[in-house]
Order: sequence, then C-alpha cells, then structure tokens
Amino acid sequence: MIKINSLSLPLNHNENTIKKIAAKAIGQRAEDIKSIIILKKSLDARKKNDIHYVLTVAAEVKNENAVLKKYGNTEKYIPFSPLSVPKSGLKTRPVVTGFGPAGIFAALILAKAGARPIVLERGEDADSRKKKTDLFWKSGILDEECNVQFGEGGAGAFSDGKLNTGTHSPLIRTVLKELADCGAPPEILYQAKPHIGTDKLLVTVKNIREKIKSLGGEVLFGAKLCDFEAAQGKLSSCTYVKNGEKQTLETNNLVLASGHSARDIFRLLLNKGITVEQKAFSVGMRIEHLQTDLNRSMYGENVPLDLLPPADYRLAVHLEDGRGVYTFCMCPGGQVVASASEKETIVTNGMSYYSRSGENANSAILVGITPEDFADPSPLAGAELQKEIEKAAFFKAGGKYLAPCTTVGKLLGSVSAFETGKVKPTYLPGTVYVDPREYLPEYAVESVKRALPMFARKISCFGDVEAVLIGPETRSSSPVRITRGESLESVSLKGLYPCGEGAGYAGGIVSSAVDGIRCAIAILEKI
Ligand SMILES: Cc1cc2nc3c(=O)[nH]c(=O)nc-3n(C[C@H](O)[C@H](O)[C@H](O)COP(=O)(O)OP(=O)(O)OC[C@H]3O[C@@H](n4cnc5c(N)ncnc54)[C@H](O)[C@@H]3O)c2cc1C
Repeated sequence: MIKINSLSLPLNHNENTIKKIAAKAIGQRAEDIKSIIILKKSLDARKKNDIHYVLTVAAEVKNENAVLKKYGNTEKYIPFSPLSVPKSGLKTRPVVTGFGPAGIFAALILAKAGARPIVLERGEDADSRKKKTDLFWKSGILDEECNVQFGEGGAGAFSDGKLNTGTHSPLIRTVLKELADCGAPPEILYQAKPHIGTDKLLVTVKNIREKIKSLGGEVLFGAKLCDFEAAQGKLSSCTYVKNGEKQTLETNNLVLASGHSARDIFRLLLNKGITVEQKAFSVGMRIEHLQTDLNRSMYGENVPLDLLPPADYRLAVHLEDGRGVYTFCMCPGGQVVASASEKETIVTNGMSYYSRSGENANSAILVGITPEDFADPSPLAGAELQKEIEKAAFFKAGGKYLAPCTTVGKLLGSVSAFETGKVKPTYLPGTVYVDPREYLPEYAVESVKRALPMFARKISCFGDVEAVLIGPETRSSSPVRITRGESLESVSLKGLYPCGEGAGYAGGIVSSAVDGIRCAIAILEKI
C-alpha cells in the first residue's frame, strides 16, 4: 500500500468521494484503488469561505513503485507494528498504585509480559464511582476516597476524553490502538484531535481492567497505598489499607501512578526521604460560552453547521510581565464539573459526552505560576497554594459546594451588576457570585483580565460580556516532581517508579498512559 498525503475533501464526503479524490491525486481511476484506509483526518477551518477536511490515506493500487516515483504527495505506507513486550523474569509480582491512565497502561504491559501485576486503587470501580460522583454533583456529599480525581480510570474518567497530546512518542499509537481495541470509537486512530467522551471512556476502562485480569493481573479497589519499606537501598514491600485493614505485599517494583491529587502520597514520600521537588503549574477559572456562539465565531455565518463538529479552540498569550495565559482542556458541548477530592474545597474541571451535544462550550483560562510565586522553598509549597485557593473558594461561596462565578462583563467592569444572561453555568450543585480576587491571587485575576480582550481579537465570542467564569481551576498539572533518574526509578530508592502526571512526568491522558508503558518496560528490561 502507499500513503497519499494532503487530500482536500468537501465537508459532505463519503467513502466513494475519498476513493475518487485519492485516485485523481495519483492519476488513477477510482476503480483502480482496491482498498483504502484513512490514516489522518483534520478539519481546515482557517478560511471561513473554504472550510474542508484534509486527509492522509493508505491505498492499495497497481504499480505502486511507479506511482511513488511519479507523485510527490505519496510515500511508502508502513503499517503499525504492535509493541514487542519483553517476557517477565521478575522474582516478585510488581505493584502498581493508581488505576488512572498511567497505572492502567503500566499494569497492562506488565500483565502482557506475564508479570501478574497487583493494582492498588484507592477509589471504587467505574460503576460505583459514577454513583458517588453523581451524588456529589447533585447534593454536595463528597467521598474523599472516590470522586472525580480518585477511582477506576483516574482523573480523566469524567472528562472530555481528549486524546491529543503535545508530546511525541512512538508509543502514542500503542495507547490509541489499545483504547480502540477495548471499546473506544475507532476513529480515534485517525482523527487529528481524537476524543472519546466520558460515556465511552468509562466502558473502555472497564474492558481494559478485564483484559489485565484475563492476563493474570489483579485489580484491588478501595485499596489505598499507605506505606512502603526498603532493604539494602531497594524497595522491599508496600502496605495498603482496604476495609480498614492493613495488608503488606512483598515486592521489588512499585509503579507509583497516584496522580496529582494524592497529596497524602506527596507527604508520605517526604517522610520517607524520597526526593520531591517544587514544580511550576497553573491556576485560573473555567469560561463558558454558548456552543452556537462559538461555532459562529469560528466557522462564520454561512456554513452548513450540521456538517461540522462543535468548534473547539486553543489560545495562548504572553503578557508584558512575562506571565503566560492560555486556554486548557477545551470541552465542546460539555459541562463544568465539580472535581474536589478533599472536603471543604472547590475545584473545577470540564467534561463532555461523546456526542458533545451540550449547550455550552467550556475551557480553563490558566495563568502560569512558578516556584518564585510560592510562599516558601518547601517541596509542597505549590500543593499548599492550590489548597489555599480551593478552600478560599469554598468558604467565600458559602460553604455548600457551590462554585464562585462571575461574568466576563462584571470582571472587566463593563457591567456593574452580576447577572447571568444567555449563558447558564453548567456546574453542579450550583454557582454563586464571588469576585475572583476573593480566592485567586491578585496577579492571576489581573492576568486573566488582560488576556480576555487579546483572546477576543482571535475568537470574537471571548468578548461576550455574558460569558461566565467559574473557578477555581487548580489541578491542571502536578505541583511537584518526584525526581527520577535515567532508569525511571526514584533517585532516592531503587524499585520505586514515580509515574504519570502526579510524578510530574506527564500531563493529560495519553502522555500519562505513555509514561505508564515506559515505566513497565523499564521494570521488565532491568533484569
Ligand atoms: C475532569 C477532568 C477532565 C479532564 N479532561 C482531560 C481530557 O479531556 N484529556 C486529557 O488528556 N486529560 C484530561 N484530564 C487530565 C487527565 O485526566 C490526567 O492528565 C490523567 O488522568 C493523569 O493520569 P495519571 O494516571 O497520571 O493519574 P490519575 O488519572 O490522577 O490517576 C491516579 C490514580 O491513583 C489513585 N490513587 C491516588 N492515591 C492512591 C493511593 N494512595 N493508593 C491507591 N490509589 C491511589 C487515584 O484514585 C487515581 O485513580 C482531565 C482531568 C479531569 C479531572
């Protein structure tokens, strides 16, 4: 097969159109193409009067070598080859802490190698977790062990399930392929901006769990890692609590994929003398627009909107004082979700279903924070700042898990009173007006205020005074790095593999999953 790049397709194309256009691009007839596979599909909406799709395909044609020689837009097609997993020679069963993307993929690779990993996950399985999360969103009753951050699927389970990543790794394809094999929509394999949606993600995660178990792995829910021991400079065991009882597992390899919200784990590591460093992160608020307004801003007025996906965006500016402000985790047709994992705190984030059919579009507007902004040099100063903001938001908004909310008009001073208009906040259990300066650092609020008009010059609905801002968004990345060496082990303890977003080595579902695979391979190849 040959790869044909940069095919321009109309919005309403089908398989025949693809064949016809691909054939024309290489001087053939459509019937000369025996089979065709879409390798990449992206929407080009840069010119509002010429919105079209751009495809890369693999096609089976006669005289491939002649076509390859003659047409510059072609190259040889190299099919995906599955990751080769080394066979396990481990003496003890490896333990994986956390069943988010990093832990899931570490466990899957270890299971495929025959290492029979044991997974400890403090939260519940996806079905029980969904019930607990729904209860929190409806009535503000929070389970600190099982919520939007903790439980099967990790932090991304109630998310838009965006699978694009700014990182480059040949392992990304392995992650997407596994997800598609386990129930994710097959188009994630070729979309330029793949997404699963929380509904399909929860099913996919359960299927991967069953696959791990069928390969000899074990997944323990409600099992919280609380300690680990070392002997002769190497990890020798770890202890977890389940149903109030402590259990100890003898192991020489612990993948620590406990995420950015396990603050108790950061404290445990410090107490055990493990090197943990400060790390930059970001804070801000989530903005909501009407999706129809965003579609018009991005696509224009005269386009067949039914043929287009709900519009998305990504914006970033650098302010004169050096601070970066950017949009993050944009959720088309989504909702803002209560994402706290500790009592008396407010944390926002965003999620969508596969259909992305909600009335509002949301994204976080984040301001970069560096260790220079922290109160002191302690490794946990960033986590303390996050918590301070989350607590202030809770109490300033009345202490009932309502989130602080304002409008763009009120924040920028173009209207005097707070009043929601056409954009209704989607956050549950509800919102109440609070000036963001009551809970966010002054420099963060000022940075958002300066960035909004700059964003509006790029996407007009950012100038909408009725857009709502809900906060605080504090958990976009880890406030620490658990330092590891070239072997991916902690620099302080052999056999301890800090992994994924919480360790400060990944950000987002796919890069965390890739890091999980890397740690699993590092364990298997150490022997
Ligand atoms: C609402 C929301 C929406 C998001 N949307 C997206 C998106 O669309 N796309 C994207 O790429 N990213 C998104 N993210 C970010 C993404 O979810 C994270 O980057 C990713 O989940 C990090 O993976 P991880 O495995 O490193 O950690 P996590 O997913 O945080 O998983 C850590 C796991 O460890 C468990 N754990 C913690 N402590 C212990 C302990 N002591 N013992 C046992 N288990 C423990 C936790 O319960 C948790 O399940 C979103 C996050 C949230 C909260």
